[in-house]
Amino acid sequence: MDNYIVSARKYRPSTFRSVVGQKALTQTLKNAIDSHKLAHAYLFCGPRGVGKTSCARIFAKTINCLHPTPDGEACNECESCRAFNEQRSFNISELDAASNNSVDDIRQLTDQVRVPPQIGQYKVFIIDEVHMLSQAAFNAFLKTLEEPPHHAIFILATTEKHKILPTILSRCQIYDFQRIGVSDIVEQLQYIASEEGVSAEDNALNVIAQKADGGMRDALSIFDQVTSFTGGNITYQAVINNLNVLDYEYYFRLVDAFLKHSVSDALLLFNDVLNKGFDAQHFISGMGSHLRDLLVCKDPVTLPLLEASASVSGRYAQQAAQCQNAFLYKALELSNECDLNYRVSKNKRLLVELTLIRICQIGQSLAGSDSVQSQPLQQVRPAAVPPAQTVASATLPSAVKQAVSPVSVSSASVQQQVPQPAKFNAPDAKPVSSRPLSAIPSISIKKPKISKEEQGKTEQAQVMADMNTPFDEKMLSEAWLKFTETIPTEAVLIKTMQLCMPRLLDGQTFEVIVENPDQIERLNDKAPDLLLFLKQRLQNSHIIMKMRQSTREERKRVFSQLEKFEYMAKKNPNLLSLKDTFGLELA
Ligand SMILES: [Zn+2]
Repeated sequence: MDNYIVSARKYRPSTFRSVVGQKALTQTLKNAIDSHKLAHAYLFCGPRGVGKTSCARIFAKTINCLHPTPDGEACNECESCRAFNEQRSFNISELDAASNNSVDDIRQLTDQVRVPPQIGQYKVFIIDEVHMLSQAAFNAFLKTLEEPPHHAIFILATTEKHKILPTILSRCQIYDFQRIGVSDIVEQLQYIASEEGVSAEDNALNVIAQKADGGMRDALSIFDQVTSFTGGNITYQAVINNLNVLDYEYYFRLVDAFLKHSVSDALLLFNDVLNKGFDAQHFISGMGSHLRDLLVCKDPVTLPLLEASASVSGRYAQQAAQCQNAFLYKALELSNECDLNYRVSKNKRLLVELTLIRICQIGQSLAGSDSVQSQPLQQVRPAAVPPAQTVASATLPSAVKQAVSPVSVSSASVQQQVPQPAKFNAPDAKPVSSRPLSAIPSISIKKPKISKEEQGKTEQAQVMADMNTPFDEKMLSEAWLKFTETIPTEAVLIKTMQLCMPRLLDGQTFEVIVENPDQIERLNDKAPDLLLFLKQRLQNSHIIMKMRQSTREERKRVFSQLEKFEYMAKKNPNLLSLKDTFGLELA
C-alpha cells in the first residue's frame, strides 16, 4: 500500500514513442528538434487527459538532453535527463493557470525567464490551462512573449482554444491534440494490465476506454478503480456494474424489438432500464450511439468508425444486416429529436416512450398499419363521439332515432328503411348487434329504399349472401373509389366520396365520417348501389356501412396533412413510392 502509485502517474509516458494515440503530432515535434527549428512559443490544444502536459515535459527534456538517441528521443541517462526524471531540473517551470491566474503569478514566472539555464540549452515554461489567466495577467505575459530571451521556450496548454486572445495565438505554433481512439486506449490498458499482473477481458477494457471518452488519464483512473473493485480480475460484467454503464446487450435487444415492430417489448425494456437506476436521457443517447454504430457497419468504408472490440463488432455487423438504411436514418432522427426535446419536456418518460413507439412503427406501411396496428384504436373511436352528433342507427327503434339524431333529413330517409323486409338486412345486422359498440348510436345504412328495380338487386344480393372473402382497408378504398367511376355525372358526390374515405372498423364493418347533413343525404341516396357494388367487388356479402357526421375535432383531422397526403396519393400513386423511397413520414 505504501508503494502504490496510481497508474496515470506510474505509466506517464517518458518518451515521445510512449505517448499514446498522438503519433503524427509527436513525430512533428521530434522533427522540429532534429532540425533545430524550435519556436519560442507553442500552444497545445485538446481535450483533457490526451497527453498535452506529458508531451510538453517530454519536449522540454528532449531539447535539453545531452546525448539524444538516433531516433530523436531523450536518452534518460544524462545528467539533464536524470534531473528531469527526478523532478529537480531548473530548466522546467510549470504554472497551473487554473489556480494561479493573477498578475503576480505571471510576474514570478517571467522573472525566471531572464536567468539562463545552467545545464542544457533551454528553459521551458509550461502554462497549463492558459485560458484561465486574468486579462491583466495576459497583458503582463504578452510583453515577455513578444521579446523572449534566446533560451526561453513557452508551452501553453489549453482545453479551450477559442478563449485564447488572437495576439497570443499569432505568436504560437499551434498543435491540436486529438481525442485518443478507443483501440489505442485499449491497447495501452492491455499493456498496463499485463505489467501489473491483472487479468482483463477485452470487452471490459473496451467499456473503460469508451467511458473515458478519448482521455488516457481518465481511462487509467477508471482502470485503477475497477482493478481494486474486482481484485485484479476485470470482467465485462464487473465493469458494467461498477461503472453504471448501460450494457450494449440492452440496445441489441431494443433494436430487435424495433425490427419486430413490437411496441410492448420496447416499452418493457425501457422500464427495465429505468428500474436499474439509469437516467432516461442516458438511455436515449446510448440508443442513438447504438444506431449510429449499426449504420457505420452497413458500409465497409465506414467500418473503421466502429469503436467496439472484435468480439462485439461481429454482433453489430449481424444486426446491421437486418436493418435497412432508411430505418436507421429515421430511427436516428427520432432518437436525436427526443434527445433535443428531453430537457424541455414536462413528461420525460412519455417522451421517450413515444419515441420508442414511433421507431417501432417505422417501415409499417400506411395500409398495413391501418389494418393491423391501429385497429384497436379505431374501435375505440366511436365511443369518443358525443351521441348528439351521430346519426341514429337504422336498427334502433324509430322513436329513439328521432330523439337522438340531429340530422332530420337523413333520419327521415333512414326511417323509410325500417319497415322493409329483413332478409337482406339480417346477415348484416348480426355482427352489429353482437358487438358491444352497437349501443353507441351510429348510422348503419344497410337497407335502402327499395324500388322494384332494386328488389331485383336484393334478390341478387341473396344469391351472393354467403360470400365471405376477407378484405382490408386498402382494397375497400380502391373499390370505394372505383364506384365513383360508375357515377360520372354526380360530381358533388364523387368529391364527397374522395374526401371521406371509408375506415374499416372490423372484418366487415366500415365507417364513413362525413362533414354535414347534405353529404349524409347524398351518400344515403346512393347507399344501395354503393353497397351492392362493394359487396360484389370485394366478394363479401357481409359488408356493413356506417355513416356519421364528424365531430369538431375530427373535422380538423379530416384536413390534417396525412389526410391531404392520402387524398393526393390516391390521385397520384407516385407520391407513395416517393414517400417510401425517402422514408418520409407525415405527422
Ligand atoms: Zn539525456
